[in-house]
Amino acid sequence: MKRFVIEREKLAENARKIQQRAGVPVIAVLKADGYGFGMAQMAEVLATEGIRMFAVTEPEDAVKLRELGYTEQDILVMRSTAMADEAYTVVQANAIATVGSPEAAQCLNEVAQGCGTQVRAHIKLDTGMGRYGFLVDQYEEIKKVYSECPGIQVTGIYTHFHSAFADEAATRAQYKQLCAITERLKADGFACGLRHAANSSGLYCYDDLMLDAVRVGSAFTGRIPAKTPTGLNRLGYLESRVIELRTVPKGHTVGYGAGYVTKAPTRIAVVPVGYTDGFSVEKKKDLYRPRDVLRYMVGELRNGRGRGNIYITVNGQRARVLGHVGLCHVSVDVTGLDVHNGDTAILDVNPLYLSPLVAKEYV
Ligand SMILES: *Cc1c(COP(=O)(O)O)cnc(C)c1O
Repeated sequence: MKRFVIEREKLAENARKIQQRAGVPVIAVLKADGYGFGMAQMAEVLATEGIRMFAVTEPEDAVKLRELGYTEQDILVMRSTAMADEAYTVVQANAIATVGSPEAAQCLNEVAQGCGTQVRAHIKLDTGMGRYGFLVDQYEEIKKVYSECPGIQVTGIYTHFHSAFADEAATRAQYKQLCAITERLKADGFACGLRHAANSSGLYCYDDLMLDAVRVGSAFTGRIPAKTPTGLNRLGYLESRVIELRTVPKGHTVGYGAGYVTKAPTRIAVVPVGYTDGFSVEKKKDLYRPRDVLRYMVGELRNGRGRGNIYITVNGQRARVLGHVGLCHVSVDVTGLDVHNGDTAILDVNPLYLSPLVAKEYV
C-alpha cells in the first residue's frame, strides 16, 4: 500500500504567497507534467487562485491545456523551435511562441502566414543558459523579428537565470543584459511588451528582479534552492505503512552489503518502499556547487559506511533508515518509539522520480 499525496490547499496557499511576493503577474510553469505533480491538477488549482498565464515546454502541452478548457489563459511555449510541425502546433493552440533564433523566427513566420494568421511570440535572449535564445550581440537579428516578420506579433521578451540560487553577480549581469536590449529596442521605437526573467529562485533570492512578470514553477511545490526559508509549503509526500516489526540483537547487519551494523539491540520497522518507487534517488542531482558536493561527501563519510542519514516519519515520529535503501523496502530504527504494525509511514520523494506505478492523489 502506497500513494503519493498532494494537498490541494497547500498548493493553493503557495500560489497566494507567490503572487503576493511577486507583485506582478505570475506565469505558472507547468513543464514536465507540472514537475511531476500533474499538469492538469496543478493548472486547476492555480487557475482557481487567479493565475492567468501558463508556460510549458512541449507544444503538445499547450494543446492539452486548451483541451482541458483553459481557453482564456495565455500559454507560453518556452522553447524556441525551428521545426515547422512544432510551430504549427503552437499556432493551432493559439499559444505564445518563443523565438530565440533567426531560423526559429523564419519558421514560425512562415507557418503563421501559411495559416493566414499572426502568432504571438516572446523573444528569448540567451544570457548564459546556452539553450534557446538570441545572443546579446545579435541585436540586428532580434530587430528583424519585429520589423520583418508579418506573421509574428512580438508581445514579450525574456531570458532565463542559470544560477539565481547561487551566484548573485552572474544573475544581476544576466538581468542587466536583458534590460540593455529592451532599452535599445525602446529607443528604436519597438514596444517590447512583457519583460520577464525571474524563475523561482530569482523571485525568492532577490527583491528587485521581477520586471513585468515572473516565471515560476518549482516554488509552487515548495521545493526550491534558496538560502533563506521561503515560507512555502513543501508539497507532496509518499504514504505507506509499517508491515513488519522485529527486534535484532547488537552486532546484527542490516541491508545489502551489510551497510549497517547495530550498536545495541534494535527494533526495526519494515516499510515496503524502495528506490523503485523513487525513494532516495535524487540527492546528488540537486548539488550544483562544488562546495555543496564537498559538504555532501563529507556528510556521507561522517555518517559512516559511505551514506548520509535518511529519515522517514513513522506514526508521527522521526525514524532513521538503517543500511542501504532496497529496491522495494526500507528498514528503519524505531527503538524506543511508539510504533505498531500498520502505522502510517511518510517518506519524502520528489514526484519527478516517483514510479509511475504509484498513484498520485490530490486530497
Ligand atoms: C523551468 C523554467 C522556469 C521555472 O523555473 P523554476 O526554477 O522551477 O521556477 C522558468 N523559465 C524557464 C525558461 C524554464 O525552463
